[in-house]
Amino acid sequence: MTAKWETVIGLEVHVELSTETKVWCSCKNEFGAEPNTNVCPVCLALPGSLPVLNAQALEYAVKAGLALNCKIQRYSKFDRKNYFYPDNPSGYQISQYDLPLCYDGYVDITRKDGTSRRIRIKRIHLENDAGKLVHAGDDVAAADTSLVDFNRAGVPLIEIVTEPDIRSSEEADLFLNKLRSILKYCGVSDVKMEEGSMRCDVNVSVRPAGSAEFGVRSELKNVNSFSAVVRGIEYEQKRHISILEEGGAVEQETRSWRDAQGISVLLRSKEDAEDYRYFPEPDLPPVVLTDEDVERVRASLPELPDAIMARLMSDYGLSAYDASIIVAEKEYADWFLRAVELAGRESAKTVANWQINELNRVMNEKGLGPDQIPVTPEQLAGMLKLIEKGTITGKIAKTVFEKMVESGKDAETIVKEEGLTQVADEGELLKIAREVVAANPKVFEDWKSGKQSAAQWFVGQLMKATRGRANPQLALKLVTQALEEQAGQQ
Ligand code: ADP
Ligand code: MG
Ligand code: ZN
Repeated sequence: MTAKWETVIGLEVHVELSTETKVWCSCKNEFGAEPNTNVCPVCLALPGSLPVLNAQALEYAVKAGLALNCKIQRYSKFDRKNYFYPDNPSGYQISQYDLPLCYDGYVDITRKDGTSRRIRIKRIHLENDAGKLVHAGDDVAAADTSLVDFNRAGVPLIEIVTEPDIRSSEEADLFLNKLRSILKYCGVSDVKMEEGSMRCDVNVSVRPAGSAEFGVRSELKNVNSFSAVVRGIEYEQKRHISILEEGGAVEQETRSWRDAQGISVLLRSKEDAEDYRYFPEPDLPPVVLTDEDVERVRASLPELPDAIMARLMSDYGLSAYDASIIVAEKEYADWFLRAVELAGRESAKTVANWQINELNRVMNEKGLGPDQIPVTPEQLAGMLKLIEKGTITGKIAKTVFEKMVESGKDAETIVKEEGLTQVADEGELLKIAREVVAANPKVFEDWKSGKQSAAQWFVGQLMKATRGRANPQLALKLVTQALEEQAGQQ
C-alpha cells in the first residue's frame, strides 16, 4: 500500500462454543454427526416449542468476555433478528441487540519488532448458529439442488465485534491468532477454522494518512480462513485506493469474498441493506448476573497467554516476540517451562531458540499440531547437556535434533549409535589440519599473501573432514598452527 493511505479494519468474529448441548435445547452439539440426527422440535422451530437458555453456554460466553478483558452486563436480554433463509427454520435468529452480554474489552497483539498494539473489543453477544446448506455444485449459483443439515441449527455462537482499530492485514492476522489462542486456553471453543467453528466478517476502509475521519467501508462476508482474511483485506484496500485515486467515491457495500479466485463480488449495497426488525425475544427471560456469578466464572479462568508471556519476559529474559510465539499454544508454553526446569534457568534462551527455530520449523514442515510435539522436553534437555559437556558440537546438535524428531530416540543413544561425538583430541585434529593444508597449496598461498578468509576456509575443510565433529575453538587454533608450520618449512 502507498504511504498516502491508511487502511482501517474492524472484524466481526463468530465462534462456536464447545458446550455439550445446543443453546436453546438439549440436542447434542457435535461436529460431523450424520445429517439431521441432532435435532428436536426446538431447533427445528416446530410450532409450540420453546427455547431454554443453556447455562453452560452462558457461562462460556461470560468466560470468553472476561478472558478478553470485557465488562459483563449484569442485565442483558435476547432479541429476535428476523430474516428468511432456508438454513434458518424459525425465520429469525435469537441474538442480542442493544444489551449484549459483554462489552468494552481488548486484546493486545505483539508485532514481530516486539512492539504491541491494543485492539479494542466493542461487544460480545450470545446467539445461535443456523443450519448448514450443502450445495450440489461448485457454489450456490451453480447448484441444481441444495441440501440442508440442521445439526448446526441452535449451536451456541458468540459474536465478537472489534472497534475499527486494526490497521493492516498483518495486524488482523495477529489479532485472529491471539483471539484463537485465548479462547482455546479458556476451553470455551475448539476454534477450528477448518470445521467452521470460527468465522469472520471483515470491514475495510481506507483514508488519507493522517486523517481523523474514517472512510466508507465495505464488509466482506464468507471469509473462512486466516489467510483468506489477509488476502481479502489486501484486495479491498487496493480496490478502495484505486477508486479514490481515480477521483471516485467508495460505496458502502456488503461483498462476498471468493477465495479461490482471489476477488470480492457485490452482494448488496447500502440502499438494499437488510432491515432485521429486531425486537425483544418474548420466549426467554432477561439474563441477570450478580457480582458473585461473574467472580465465580473469573475464578475458573486458567492462567492466560498474556500473563505467561509477562512471566517468560521477566523471569527468563525472553523478547516479547519470542515469548508471544511460545505462549500462542498452551502446549508450547508447558513444553517450554518443563524444558527449562530440566535444562536449568540459565538455558532458557537456548531452549527458546531451539523451540522457535528448529522445533516450530519441523512441526510446520510435517504439519503437526500443538498436541503432536515430536520431541519431549526431556529429550531437548538431554541434548543440551551433551553440548554443554562438550560431547557434541552445536553444529552436530542440529543433526542430532533432526534424528531425534525422526526416530524418537534420545540424543545420547543417537550420538552413540552414529559416532557423532565431538573430536577434541589435539593430536588427531592437528594431523587432519596438516593434511588439509598440504592438500591445498593454492589456498595456502592466498593465506600467505595475507588473505584472512583463507584460514576460515581451512577451518571449513577441517570440519568437513571430521563431518562437523571438530571442536570449533580448537579448529581455528590448530589450522593456524598447521599454516604457520607449513610457512616455516618453505
Ligand atoms: P453495524 O452496526 O453497521 O454492523 P458497527 O458499528 O457495529 O456497524 O461495526 C461493524 C464492524 O465494522 C465493527 O467491527 C467496526 O469496527 C467496523 N467498522 C465500522 N466502521 C468502519 C470503517 N469506517 N472502516 C472499517 N471498519 C469499520
Ligand atoms: Mg455487521
Ligand atoms: Zn434441538
